[in-house]
Amino acid sequence: MSENEKEEKDKPSNEELDVEEPKQEEKEVDKEAEKPKAKFTFKCTRCDKCCLARGPIPLTFWDLELWAKNGVVANFMPYLEIYHKPDGGIDLILKPLPPKKDEENKKARDPFSPTPIEELLEEKCPLYNKENKQCLVYDNRPLSCRTYPLEYDGKNYKVVDVDCPGIGEEGMTKEELAEMRDNAKLMNYELTRIRIALPVLSQLISQKVMMDLMRQNIEAMSKMSDEDRAKLDEIFKKNQEPSEE
Ligand code: SF4
Ligand code: SF4
Repeated sequence: MSENEKEEKDKPSNEELDVEEPKQEEKEVDKEAEKPKAKFTFKCTRCDKCCLARGPIPLTFWDLELWAKNGVVANFMPYLEIYHKPDGGIDLILKPLPPKKDEENKKARDPFSPTPIEELLEEKCPLYNKENKQCLVYDNRPLSCRTYPLEYDGKNYKVVDVDCPGIGEEGMTKEELAEMRDNAKLMNYELTRIRIALPVLSQLISQKVMMDLMRQNIEAMSKMSDEDRAKLDEIFKKNQEPSEE
């Protein structure tokens, strides 16, 4: 067995990692347990594996506030998208760019249809510079990147990428562990907050866009000459006539 295969085999699975600060009673239970959980330790090795295949990154108000405060919102704008998920929920995401080959195919098909998110789940973050192996927005990186690969679901912590090479690395201080746990909890809180607000905001914005479009149409119609209006009426009438088949 190669050294790498051995390392993979010895790596604790998500269930075997102990991320929580053990409470007194849990410590006693752990003492009794036949196979105590491996202590969660983490040190990012900067392998950049996560930035290269992160897929859509969920964003929160925390991120928007940070970018507004630092005057960098425009840097993120081209990659922001409201994602209507298959389960009915809505997320604000940092959307990966489609691979070049797909982009060329798409242009040949329909230049206006965006690549579905489902096809970008393993794609590189748009703000990662592959050549220089560098995050282009490190100081303003989203909260989700600050807590990766740890998440908190409201009850428990979980490691979302057990293959992350940083897991199990020694050298994490108590303070760093506490900060990572705090960030994971904050991410859970912020994600809940934006997921409650987004459906309402998205509806309000769509209504406003519709009203603006209607207003622009009415204004354009009022400026039309009688001749143009007659032509338009004719086109409408033609479209309403039943087709002969
Ligand atoms: S978080 Fe993990 S996968 Fe991402 S760069 Fe650090 S070690 Fe690599
Ligand atoms: S924003 Fe930076 S840290 Fe986060 S995935 Fe992109 S390149 Fe990586």
